[in-house]
Amino acid sequence: MNDIKENLKEINERIKNAAVVSGRKMDDILLLGVTKTVDVDRIKSLMEYGVKSLGENRVQELLSKYEVIGRQAKWHLIGSLQTNKVKYIIDKVELIHSVESVKLAEEIDKQSKKYNKVSDILVEVNIAGESSKHGIEPDNVSKFIDEISRFDNICIKGIMTVAPFVENPQENRKYFEKMRKLFIDNTGKNVDNINMTYLSMGMTNDYEVAIEEGANIVRIGTGIFGKRDYRN
Ligand SMILES: *Cc1c(COP(=O)(O)O)cnc(C)c1O
Repeated sequence: MNDIKENLKEINERIKNAAVVSGRKMDDILLLGVTKTVDVDRIKSLMEYGVKSLGENRVQELLSKYEVIGRQAKWHLIGSLQTNKVKYIIDKVELIHSVESVKLAEEIDKQSKKYNKVSDILVEVNIAGESSKHGIEPDNVSKFIDEISRFDNICIKGIMTVAPFVENPQENRKYFEKMRKLFIDNTGKNVDNINMTYLSMGMTNDYEVAIEEGANIVRIGTGIFGKRDYRN
């Protein structure tokens, strides 16, 4: 488990430096430990080293880990979410990063009402217009936020993107910059259930560039745990 400790040390150092470049402090950035395919023992050791916010991209996997770890961690759903699965996670998650349809927002609203809860969500943006990626087209984000703001039991807390996979992370700088502009453009809307707080972007390969461009949540898996083993 020492690898986790060492990796985390290096990542925290890099987060700190990138935060300084963008005029912020390390504490302004939330490191989300992406735990998909990672077993509970290794997740627990990450938590011992201080990372308590965890990102999972599959409902079933989140649920089975939640059974063991429960509320000691803050669970973030970062992968695409089918409307018929919302009911299983709605009382368990801190933030849903991947809202990209009115239908999904409506279901989150409906299920949240049952728990008398206002659920925090991010709007996923397909910032590079890739056909393989989920998310709202950049030009439609403002309209989409307006449209889903009618749901009383969701609070729109920001935007999220999965940037293209590139060899050189600098290639994604233009997309992160575009995300920051979108984020700022929509902060003017802060009313009732719109409260633009989080800009979730940057993964193992490009989190420093993302932070330099304004990310305040980075989602890191491989950098912490090593290459994923999908056989589990
Ligand atoms: C897997 C995943 C990550 C983490 O990716 P790494 O490259 O392993 O850091 C981040 N965000 C989402 C949405 C993911 O599915």
